[in-house]
Amino acid sequence: MQNYLTEKEKRLEILKLSGVNDIIVNKIKPQQKQELLDTIYENYKSCHRCKLGETRNNFVLGEGDSEADIMFVGEGPGAQEDKTGRPFVGRAGKLFNKMLDAIDLNREEVYITNIVKCRPPKNRDPKPDEIKACLPFLHQQIKIIKPALICALGKVAGNTLLDKETSLTSLRNNIFSYKNTDLMVTYHPSALLYHPKWKRPAWQDLQKLRDKYLK
Ligand code: URA
Repeated sequence: MQNYLTEKEKRLEILKLSGVNDIIVNKIKPQQKQELLDTIYENYKSCHRCKLGETRNNFVLGEGDSEADIMFVGEGPGAQEDKTGRPFVGRAGKLFNKMLDAIDLNREEVYITNIVKCRPPKNRDPKPDEIKACLPFLHQQIKIIKPALICALGKVAGNTLLDKETSLTSLRNNIFSYKNTDLMVTYHPSALLYHPKWKRPAWQDLQKLRDKYLK
């Protein structure tokens, strides 16, 4: 117990002193994962690394199982997410829950986060400088959680993680590698709300995810 607290204090100091890039995340015990995520949240919930910090209500770090095999990454919080501090809880979130349900998953079994942690005004796409400022959080989340698969939701998340500027069509149906973690890209649930005919191919993507990554 004594050691454990001292280590935690050390990590807190590192976080405070040198920023999120430098958190020591090697050799994390499973039970320390949530604690590290909470530490990031506590230290950065008032983040002003980019302009989104001026207009957001809540810094939405992410939620779910800190030991999850699957991590879903959306674009950025919307109005409901900004209000509640939780990812994917608005209309798109309800559809996302149904998508998970279709492959016998629920939110508590996966980890859900976004490229940017603060709401872009009027739900515009996050700007390159905002993405750049925020990506270290996602990198740390990935290092802490160590998922088997990152599933990017939509073109913005997929292109950002893969450093590409291409269509969703060319991103789908591939397993890429992102910092040594498998990465696939499927439709963003918001897109499915506006284009129901894409639900079928989205379902096919999820089936592939299920068959390859869920026991
Ligand atoms: N859209 C996203 O990309 N993320 C959310 O959390 C909600 C809507």
